[in-house]
Amino acid sequence: MSSRRDRIRAKIMARVEIDSDTGCWLWTGPTSGSDGRGADYPRMSLDGQTVAVHKAMWTNEHGFIPGKKELDHVCRNRRCVRPDNDRHVQMVTRKRNALRREEAKRTALRCEGVDA
Ligand SMILES: [Zn+2]
Repeated sequence: MSSRRDRIRAKIMARVEIDSDTGCWLWTGPTSGSDGRGADYPRMSLDGQTVAVHKAMWTNEHGFIPGKKELDHVCRNRRCVRPDNDRHVQMVTRKRNALRREEAKRTALRCEGVDA
């Protein structure tokens, strides 16, 4: 007998490719598009609604995400949906996630040789 949880996991895993180098679980299905801030995040249809796959996967394994928290891709791979390892998708506070984004931006600028 399969529970709803098992069915959701199976539905997601059917479209996931595991990257043996990074350990990322890469979504091969549709994404939110290629432009803008919210781009390139995995999307799927669940019970007639379009949802972010990494969120659906995480919630399915760990439960509801409280309002002040959000999921961060520690591996910096937006298509990664891996819920069982906090070096991939991790629950953080919104504030911490925003700080990390700023840090990543500064690092990227430095790498390009721009004085920030
Ligand atoms: Zn990952």
